[in-house]
Parts: sequence; structure tokens; C-alpha cells
Amino acid sequence: MARIARTLGAKGVKIMKDPASGWLTADAPQADEFQSCIKCGLCLPSCPTFQETGLERESPRGRVQLIRSVAQGLIPLENGPLAETLFTCLDCRACESACPSGVPIGRLIEKGRAEVVQQHIVTTPAWARWLEQVLAHPGRLKVARRVFKAGQQIGLWQRRNKWPGLPASVSTLASTVRPLPSKAAGGMPVKRLAKAHARDTVRVQLFLGCIMDAAFSDAHEATVRVLSRHGCSVTAPEGQVCCGALAVHAGNREEARRLARINVDRFGQGADYIATNAGGCGAALLEYPDWLKDDPRYANRAREFSSRVHDAMQILDLVGFEPPSGPFPYTVTYQGSCHLHHVMKVGNIPERLLQSLPGSDYRPMPDMTRCCGSAGIYNLTHPAMADALLRRKMMDIPTGAEVVATGNPGCWLQMEQGVKRFGPPVTVMHIMQVLDRAYANAPDAT
Ligand code: SF4
Ligand code: SF4
Repeated sequence: MARIARTLGAKGVKIMKDPASGWLTADAPQADEFQSCIKCGLCLPSCPTFQETGLERESPRGRVQLIRSVAQGLIPLENGPLAETLFTCLDCRACESACPSGVPIGRLIEKGRAEVVQQHIVTTPAWARWLEQVLAHPGRLKVARRVFKAGQQIGLWQRRNKWPGLPASVSTLASTVRPLPSKAAGGMPVKRLAKAHARDTVRVQLFLGCIMDAAFSDAHEATVRVLSRHGCSVTAPEGQVCCGALAVHAGNREEARRLARINVDRFGQGADYIATNAGGCGAALLEYPDWLKDDPRYANRAREFSSRVHDAMQILDLVGFEPPSGPFPYTVTYQGSCHLHHVMKVGNIPERLLQSLPGSDYRPMPDMTRCCGSAGIYNLTHPAMADALLRRKMMDIPTGAEVVATGNPGCWLQMEQGVKRFGPPVTVMHIMQVLDRAYANAPDAT
């Protein structure tokens, strides 16, 4: 296909652009990715945005066909309908589980976003760019965490419902975030706990993540204790950074690749498994081979890295899960993170783990893997759709449930927000915390 070169942006970078479609050559959706769509529509019922709107352009098939039409030069990229519909997608990947043709819809959406962002057809809000930059740099995240926690301690976030330059959705979420643990894992508590329990049979490296470590380090500690009980020696490599999911969702694939290279370097080859306890992070780590496939130094290493990535629940299943003997005397339900189920393919492992808890009554949530509306920062950028999905999710919580277990920080924050805004009054916990509590309740627990 004939291509022309044009100069983009103030940096004066020469970038090749396809004259028919308007795609930039780097990261454009590929024909073999969208041509496998047979337009059967089997993905439609699984798509939360289609369920809410009933609009074809808000469906997976509609989005894929818009991408195909732009690629074929039938509709314009600029001033056309594609840019908006790419960003109303939650990137939940439920459609991929339903698609019989294996269309990589999430990848197409993410590449489409990269196109419209690189070409300045869509501009990411300044606050979202700032947030992305904070989360991607551990030093900045540490400072932001301190400021946020100090604000929580004096009730600052609860008092104000609007901050200058920020949408109301940000202050609403900030006011509902649980009190942050006293410190992020950052390696220390994880290392100490790992030493105390390790039996050194299976070597596991724990991926800490950005939000997960800043707000849910207690779930990391629980994960280490649970894995260690199963003969895993757990370490948390120093210098690891954010997985890159937020950057790639925002169309910033260069930044995502930068973070991926750092993680590949930091984790090296020193373990049997790389454990995540955040569905969104785990799904991003599995995408590293695609992100880095054109990088001769990292392509093979990214494949090797991703081949060792599993959710902590999958590792328990692989090494032989030993059910707790202590009780967890609550009625429990489970909110399935989209990425855990549709990308990491955890299947029914979470439910099997929860059903093993002595003294617990497990009640399945209807349509448990339907997105709760969190989706990275979607709940901040698209609050109306996110609220509609969250309300439905809260209504799906089975009557009598006392605990909602989940396996992803985004779901956790979103569900806690749902409890405070819409009810019912349940406790939201990470599934590793639930297991950890049951082990701790055993009569012979130390
Ligand atoms: S990723 Fe989710 S929101 Fe986007 S098209 Fe697929 S099912 Fe719909
Ligand atoms: S299920 Fe797959 S093949 Fe069928 S319309 Fe949806 S994306 Fe296309």
C-alpha cells in the first residue's frame, strides 16, 4: 500500500501515514485482526455498552466495523464516528469470550485509540494525563499517596465535592476510597512475610502494581501469606513499575512499552511464576509480547516473561490448593473482574476457592463477570455510563450477602463506591484476604 510521509506535531517527528485510511503506520489496527469478524453478532449480548444503549455503534461488532471502514477509506478518521466510540468502550473484553472467530477486539480498540490520540483527534484531559504520569513513576506515586492519605486523615476528600479543574467524578471517587493502609508494600512487608513462611519449593515473584500497592498493600500481604502456605517462596523484585494498562487504554502505547521494558528487566528469569493479584495488571502483563513484538531486544524476553504470568489464584490451583480449616462465617458473593475472566481465563477457580471456605455460605452473583464500570479510569471519564453499570451491579448482589470478594483493585474501589452511594451495606474484600482470614481462623493457626 502506498504511503506518504508527513510531519506531525511540534516535535517535528516524521511519521508515515496511510493515505487511504489516515492511519499512522505505527500501531495501526491490522487487516488480519478485523477481517476475521463475520458480523454474526454473537458478541452483542455480552457488551455492557450495547446492553445499556442498544446502539450498534456502541457494540463490539459496530466498533470493529467502524475500524474496518476507516481502514478501507470508506469513512474518515477525523470528524468521523470512530474516535468517540473507541473511548466509550470499557475495554472489558467480554466480547472476546463470546466471539467465535477470535477477533482480538480489545487489541483493535487499543490500537485505534493510539491512532486518534497520536493524531490529536482526541485529547486526553490534562488531569488524566497527570494521573497517568503519577501512577507510572513510583517516586511521584509515593508523594501522591502521602498527600492523599494526609487528606483522608483530616477528612479533606469527604468535605469537598468539587475541585477546580477536576470533574465531579474524581472528587466523588476520592471521597469514597477506603482509608489507605499505613504504608505501601514497596517490597518491605512482602519480603518480611515471605521469609517467615517460605518453604522454598516454588519460586514466585509478586507483581505489586501502582494503585494495588498504594491502596491495597494489605491484599499483597495476604497474598504472600496464602502463597507461602502453599510452599511458595515469594519475592517482590525492586524497581518494578506500573504494568502499563492505564497508558495503553489511554492510547499511549509508547509509554506502555517503556513500562513493559522496565518490568521485563526487573523481573529477569528468577522465578517459576510471576504472580499478580490484580486482574487488570495481569491482563496487561500478558500483552507484553504484542506490545514489544517489534523490539528486537525485548520481543523474546517479553514472551518468556508473559509465559510465567498467572493470577495468584491460578498459582494456588497449579500447586495444589489446600482448603483452609478455619471458618469464614459469612455469606459471600463474588464480583468477577473482566480481565481476570476474559483475558487471564481464571474460569471457575475463584468460585471453587470461595466454596471451600468452612462455615461460609457462597451465593453466586448473576452475570458476575459483567463490568462494574470501573475499567481503569473509565468511571472518571465516563461517569454516566459507569454509574449505570455500577447501579446494576449493586442490584445484582444476592440478598443476604455480607461480603463481596473480588480480585482487582479497580473493581474493589468501584464496588466500595457503590456500597457508599447505592448500597447494600456489604464489605468488599480481596479474595486473597478472604482466604487469609480463614487460614488465620484455624484452631492451630500461629
Ligand atoms: S470491550 Fe467490553 S465494552 Fe468494549 S466492545 Fe467489548 S464488550 Fe463492549
Ligand atoms: S462475535 Fe466476533 S465475529 Fe461475530 S460480530 Fe462479534 S466480533 Fe464479529
